[in-house]
Amino acid sequence: MIIRLENLNYIYNPNTPFEKKALDDINLSIEEGDFVGLMGHTGSGKSTLVQHLNGLIKPTSGKIIIDGMDITSKEANLKEIRQKVGLVFQYPEHQLFEETIYKDIAFGPKNLGLEEEEIHKRVKKAMELVGLNFELLKDRSPFELSGGQKRRVAIAGVLAMKPKVLILDEPTAGLDPKGRDEILGRIQKLYEEEGITIILVSHSMEDIARLVNRIIVMHKGKVAMEGKTREVFEQAEKLQEIGLGIPQVTSFMREYKGKGHQVRDDVLTVEEAKEELINYLRRRGNA
Ligand code: ADP
Repeated sequence: MIIRLENLNYIYNPNTPFEKKALDDINLSIEEGDFVGLMGHTGSGKSTLVQHLNGLIKPTSGKIIIDGMDITSKEANLKEIRQKVGLVFQYPEHQLFEETIYKDIAFGPKNLGLEEEEIHKRVKKAMELVGLNFELLKDRSPFELSGGQKRRVAIAGVLAMKPKVLILDEPTAGLDPKGRDEILGRIQKLYEEEGITIILVSHSMEDIARLVNRIIVMHKGKVAMEGKTREVFEQAEKLQEIGLGIPQVTSFMREYKGKGHQVRDDVLTVEEAKEELINYLRRRGNA
């Protein structure tokens, strides 16, 4: 287990008229190698939760254990925690500031006090991981790039820290379909090839269904649902109660089954639906 939260509570502006309980008794475990989708409405507590995981916010009460380390204890080493848990904020490209892409990605590793050679290796590898050509782009200004490319530079800056856990808060927000597919493809590859634990905050049911193996649903500061991707999306009624949906294709298959067709209604992607429909038509044809 790489992350464990025990009775975690967080209150913004305690004892003021603006007091707001943002996290209410959260208990969660995330295993090493999980790809977790974190869902929930705006204001449900997702950002507050992920900022706890790399020590940016200290809980009002409760425990946070990261890779065996109690990060809420007085002795906790925040630098070490931030190295272990990389957090990519929403619109991370707003935080680019160096005059070259190389320098921007090297910023974190440099702060760790690493040798120049190691920094070079890490920058190169991180650029490869996000699909940016090292030789071609390293000396260019990040500000010359497209929106999607800038975002990939920002993600590379976090990857260059070699985190064990990567948290991405709405990594596709504001990108065009091509930029979105490129980023999501890179994230999927990172997960498959680097074995990194990923937490993806997203509003897109389609993206979540396609990528993650576990889902956590937040609602009003609490964990409302938690489980394997298919198990969570099978509970369409409960998701609807919270005001969330299921992937369009899952919804379609549920309706189709409702009309008396004996098909699986737990499919998550268009590919799965296609396969199931072909099988169904074959079964019917043979009957
Ligand atoms: P999400 O990421 O799911 O949109 P947040 O974690 O941002 O949710 O917010 C959870 C709750 O905490 C919301 O009610 C929000 O208004 C409140 N909140 C978030 N940030 C602050 C802040 N800096 N000061 C006061 N309240 C905040």
